[in-house]
Amino acid sequence: MLQRLPIAPQGPAFSGFVMGYWRLMEWAMTPRQLVDFIEHHLELGITTVDHADIYGDYRCEAAFGEALKLAPELRDKLQIVTKCGIATRAKPQHQIGHYNTTRAHILQSADNSLRHFGTDRLDLLLIHRPDPLMDADEVAEAFIALHQSGKALHFGVSNFTPSQYALLQSRLPFTLATNQLEISPIQQSLLLDGTLDHCQQLRIRPMAWSCLGGGRLFSDPHYQPLRDELERVKEEIGAATLEQVVYAWVLKLPSKPLPIIGSGKTRRVAEAAAAASLTLDLQQWFRIRKAALGFDVP
Ligand code: NAP
Repeated sequence: MLQRLPIAPQGPAFSGFVMGYWRLMEWAMTPRQLVDFIEHHLELGITTVDHADIYGDYRCEAAFGEALKLAPELRDKLQIVTKCGIATRAKPQHQIGHYNTTRAHILQSADNSLRHFGTDRLDLLLIHRPDPLMDADEVAEAFIALHQSGKALHFGVSNFTPSQYALLQSRLPFTLATNQLEISPIQQSLLLDGTLDHCQQLRIRPMAWSCLGGGRLFSDPHYQPLRDELERVKEEIGAATLEQVVYAWVLKLPSKPLPIIGSGKTRRVAEAAAAASLTLDLQQWFRIRKAALGFDVP
């Protein structure tokens, strides 16, 4: 059973693995099936769920809310993370995909999310992507208003560089809680560009998205050498699946990322959570690094 731990010096406390709901509409679950799915990951100790306003062409939050209507007792057992700041063409009024981090949009989006989930608070609200037109004062005004009204309890960002993060932080009277980042053997750039150092420096745990490369790690012929190495390490450490080895690889990072699971299959979710007890030694970690990148350390 996973434990909840603070992800930043001023909280919140999240489960060590997070359930990601980006692909919820693809899973084609009825609200009842979704209740069962949520109860299953809660039993494993996965209490934190990741959403965004735009997921499923703006439909995932409301679909999740339908399940919560059937089982309202689940709300208080969950920490709900959601995001705003991207505007996609799924809305007819958007002629082009763009970012919108204006105060009005953030406030409106948070209200929409609260209505979709049928809840009175978001546990964590993130700005989804860095916006070249982001006015940090405006975002801070929106965050402070949401904090004061209790509509959102904590705030953070996603896919931000350390300087973008520092800019927004400089305008806030409370600390940002996380930076949600793409981290996997096949996406290692943030490991050495200062982004994860920055998380470590601030003692905030990043949330790690697409640890399995969105499934490409298993389907792309290019990653066969990586799969071969993962298979060898799997045998060495007694893991049940290649995914578990990947999660163990992510968990070894000293910034202590929280992997976000993207699978809609209960068996895979349970196997992912079980990776929390696996450890890789240094050489196993670097063998996976090399197999993914195709070259050795200098
Ligand atoms: P992921 O774990 O990298 O990919 C999940 C996909 O891989 C699912 O389609 C899953 O299919 C498939 N998969 C898992 N194991 C597999 C296997 N052994 N063989 C073949 N396919 C396999 O995660 P993700 O869905 O890309 O991202 C996870 C979460 O991160 C999202 O739900 C979202 O919450 C968050 N996210 C955030 C951002 C951001 O910008 N902040 C961006 C992307 C995602 P099955 O369902 O069939 O198992």
